[in-house]
Amino acid sequence: MLFFSIFAKYPIDSESPERKIMIDANTTTMASAVPSAMTQNKQSHSNRRWLLTRWALVISRPLGACCAIFAILVLLGYFGHVESFYRPIDGGPATNPLTALCILCVAMGLWYGNTGRKQIFQLVFALAGIVLSAAKLIDLNFTMNISPALTPFMDIVQNDLNAGKSNATGLNSAIMLFLLSVSLVISAFKKTILIQILAFISLAVPLVSYTGYAYGFNHFYGQMSLLTATAGIFLALSTLCTTGNKGILRAILSPYVGGRIARIQIMLGFIVPFSMGYLLIKTFLKTGDGNLFGIFVVAITWFIISLVCASAVMQEMVDHKRRHAEKSLLLSAMTDPLTGLFNRRKFYETAHREFERIRRNESQFGILILDLDFFKKINDTAGHDMGDKVLVQVAKILKQSIRSVDLVARMGGEEFAILLVDTPYQGVERVAEKIRANVETMEVEGWTDIYQPITASIGCANSNQRPRLEEIITLADEALYTAKAKGRNQVCLAEA
Ligand code: GH3
Ligand code: MG
Ligand code: MG
Repeated sequence: MLFFSIFAKYPIDSESPERKIMIDANTTTMASAVPSAMTQNKQSHSNRRWLLTRWALVISRPLGACCAIFAILVLLGYFGHVESFYRPIDGGPATNPLTALCILCVAMGLWYGNTGRKQIFQLVFALAGIVLSAAKLIDLNFTMNISPALTPFMDIVQNDLNAGKSNATGLNSAIMLFLLSVSLVISAFKKTILIQILAFISLAVPLVSYTGYAYGFNHFYGQMSLLTATAGIFLALSTLCTTGNKGILRAILSPYVGGRIARIQIMLGFIVPFSMGYLLIKTFLKTGDGNLFGIFVVAITWFIISLVCASAVMQEMVDHKRRHAEKSLLLSAMTDPLTGLFNRRKFYETAHREFERIRRNESQFGILILDLDFFKKINDTAGHDMGDKVLVQVAKILKQSIRSVDLVARMGGEEFAILLVDTPYQGVERVAEKIRANVETMEVEGWTDIYQPITASIGCANSNQRPRLEEIITLADEALYTAKAKGRNQVCLAEA
């Protein structure tokens, strides 16, 4: 029960991805009124995708709790004179009581972290951790003697030291615990990146000790016991996990390509140099052959280069797909799917740009609005498919009737607009007449061979002396109505 309450109690940050997904899903639900099975599937899929981030938040507290248990066991070991509790390897370094106390403070601080009202406890434990670790750091750096006063079971420690056994808070442990305590204080101010940097540095310290234990090389672990190193790793990971949904951790745990690449690289970046280092040390200790160091350096360099290259290739592949998708999305946002012409939005966008341009260099342009005559009749007589066929054919004719610099767009239904760049008043009418004639002579199998020709009415306006684009379009529209009123199949030009 307690175990599950640990999981349930962990508050999810308001900006966590899963909360965002929930909000997104709610918005979708509101928009569609009824949550469809597809929406629900999508939602559960998105939730699953950020699973690592969620796990990081969930395991943060249990990791800290494990360290608190370690520390209490160590202190109980001193209390009950059970040496194996505080010296995990016989004859190896012990976890000093001051270290254990400091681990307990950091672990308790992590336990109370992010729990709203109880944040004050987190701060108190963090400050206690700072005081204990700083005392040791001051002692080590300024040859002072403050820390013994803060160390419980000092008599046992003294006995160990007198007997030549290692039992002290080393410089590495003190730095690690100091940084972790500081990061706890910072977490009260929500400076995520700083917390993560401190936690990463803290993680590096016990990893060096672990490497020493793995290689059987005592220079690497010095006075840090295996227990302290394990607790250090747990505490640093727990600290990192509290920020699992933000900053560097969020990027590493992301379900998307960046996260996947990062995780593979971190894993390889750890395993490869670690195994090579192991072989190197073993060979060196056995044969004393120093030449291997050169091979080691070159191999690691090439390993890093190949990691970066692989990452670049993967990133480029994904980015290429994204660029392609972006391009086709952009294209579909400005084209009409039936005719392949630009749509109303693109027409207005281009017309506005052209309007700004001619205002600067005193040129002029024309706008034609074309509407097919009695188009409804085609739909009603020969069906909607025939109507579509006519629209596609008209689009083709319009494109063929203008220059490549001009723009033709389908404004909706059977209405088209044409922008004639750098075209004076008389030119606009000439082009419009040419288009009208081309439409009239156009052949559409199944319609023009059975029924009458397709005709169009065109209203035109010229930009000359007009202060606003909207005015030019309205004039062309009005001219179109005049053309329709005058009997259709004709061009009408708004007055200059
Ligand atoms: P008018 O000469 O006055 O312009 O007469 P009209 O029949 O062309 O006029 P109206 O604008 O009322 O009719 C346009 C019709 O075009 C109505 C609509 O059903 C049809 N339409 C609109 N979009 C499409 C389409 O994409 N495909 C087809 N086949 N028909 C369409
Ligand atoms: Mg029409
Ligand atoms: Mg119409």
